[in-house]
Amino acid sequence: MHRTHTCGELTISDLGNTVILSGWVQKSRDLGGMTFIDVRDRYGVTQLVFDPADDESLRAEARSLGREYVIKVTGKVIERESKNPKIPTGEIEIKVARLEVLNAAKLPPFTIEDDTDGGDDLRMKYRYLDLRRNPLRNNLVLRHRLAQETRNYLDKHHFLEVETPVLIKSTPEGARDFVVPSRMNPGEFYALPQSPQTFKQLLMVSGFDRYFQLVKCFRDEDLRADRQPEFTQIDCEMAFVEQEDILQLFEGLIKHLFKQIKHIDLDTIPRMPYDEAMRLYGSDKPDIRFGMPFVELNTVLQGAGFPVFDKADLVVGINAQGCASYTRKELDALTDFVKRPQIGASGLVYLRCNADGTFKSSVDKFYSPEQLAVWANAFDAQPGDLLLVMAGNTDRVRKQLCELRLEIASQRGLRDKNTYAPLWVTDFPLLEWDDESGRYHAMHHPFTSPKVEDIPLLETEPGNVRANAYDLVINGTEIGGGSIRIHDRDLQSLMFKHLGFTAEEAQKQFGFLLDAFTYGAPPHGGIAFGFDRLVAVFAGLDSIRDVIAFPKNNAGRDVMIDSPSAIAGTQLAELGIALS
Ligand code: ASP
Repeated sequence: MHRTHTCGELTISDLGNTVILSGWVQKSRDLGGMTFIDVRDRYGVTQLVFDPADDESLRAEARSLGREYVIKVTGKVIERESKNPKIPTGEIEIKVARLEVLNAAKLPPFTIEDDTDGGDDLRMKYRYLDLRRNPLRNNLVLRHRLAQETRNYLDKHHFLEVETPVLIKSTPEGARDFVVPSRMNPGEFYALPQSPQTFKQLLMVSGFDRYFQLVKCFRDEDLRADRQPEFTQIDCEMAFVEQEDILQLFEGLIKHLFKQIKHIDLDTIPRMPYDEAMRLYGSDKPDIRFGMPFVELNTVLQGAGFPVFDKADLVVGINAQGCASYTRKELDALTDFVKRPQIGASGLVYLRCNADGTFKSSVDKFYSPEQLAVWANAFDAQPGDLLLVMAGNTDRVRKQLCELRLEIASQRGLRDKNTYAPLWVTDFPLLEWDDESGRYHAMHHPFTSPKVEDIPLLETEPGNVRANAYDLVINGTEIGGGSIRIHDRDLQSLMFKHLGFTAEEAQKQFGFLLDAFTYGAPPHGGIAFGFDRLVAVFAGLDSIRDVIAFPKNNAGRDVMIDSPSAIAGTQLAELGIALS
């Protein structure tokens, strides 16, 4: 027998019992002539004590154990002299009578502690050791619990978990496909799913009515902290529903998860149309843990002879309340922040509302004190406030000011990780213009239905057609998105046409779906949540890597198994692939 108990389990109520424990040596120390060893497993840490008065050779053996050795001990539970109230086993220790080394361990390349000395690269290479550390293990426990609670909720609401294939044909979600060569069909390739989108729609045609799947999706795109080439979605689809049904049901899921996992009762999730989100926050995923909405100032500030404002499409600002005390240096730092190449603004104008009711602005010479007062009034500014204004091309300046708004909020501690502000963003545009290819792309994906009343605009003003599409945002992170789908063959064909497909191309790539729509497709819609991001939000982390057991690095590599890697010439030949 390897163990009677785990290392996180024994307490004062077990005093006097003889137990067997197995685990890893966390640390060892000599004190008052005795040797103490902390033994660790997934469940916790228990202190072992070796007393030379009992057995000198056993103690010598204990002293020879290295960190991370795997051991098994038999001994008696005794009360500890100096107790540790911080851990559940802190009142007891095991007086060891037998020690067995199950496996020796090389000295680990970094310390297996909550705060490790290992750098990112080293920890990724030895990910199996990194995963022994509490913070990472706790993240995976949290991930498991979120998955279980998701399944519980959806099962209770009659969703069926159905698996969809991984070797498929391209499903456009706006990224590049990963492709897999087919040996049996030389010169042909499968694509890995960017999402199971078309399959879940086909399941609705099959009559499954409510589908979900915790599913891997694959997108070949440039990586960031919150992106991985393979990631997990909670993918869902429902038949005979309208947008409202979907928002209600999945608001229920989010509330259920917050309640079960974090013991938080969320209020009704507010909703904001896309246009308003862009106008007030310059983003389709606004962080609404704090206010600081944009105020548009064209009518207030243009025409005074300040060329930067006069020639701009949009003059827009925010009120950094209580920040009038920012020094020249701090203001310069904010200007440098917006001028960084990643943000690319040409400058930043301020208006300081002094405590005595006077104003000071970086563009004083263009505006009279009365005009400055009108400016402050547009923000409802109070003495002590600092108004920050930018100008330029509408889309660009909104993005830039959005970054500044987030930066100021971070500086002022308004983005508390333990505050959760979810938001539904609705009424997304159906199409977005892409300068590079010179045509419209589907903003969500090509299967999203336009709002019925906007269908006539498809021919005349495609950019103004709104979609029945929605995103769930939490604290400025997009956590999920979905739409009501097109279920009519003719409308779907029209959509493909507007996306630049010829009838033949559409039939070749999506004929299976168009055909399915002719055999009785019910109205349907759905949503998918980024499961890794959801776990990261619950864990209060910025990077999704920390909530994935074996993630890839920023170059898309798994440095532990060294992948991707070259394959043998024979394999290439079998696949009929020649490398240039
Ligand atoms: N397939 C979509 C996505 O991956 C989600 C959906 O529309 O249900 O974003």
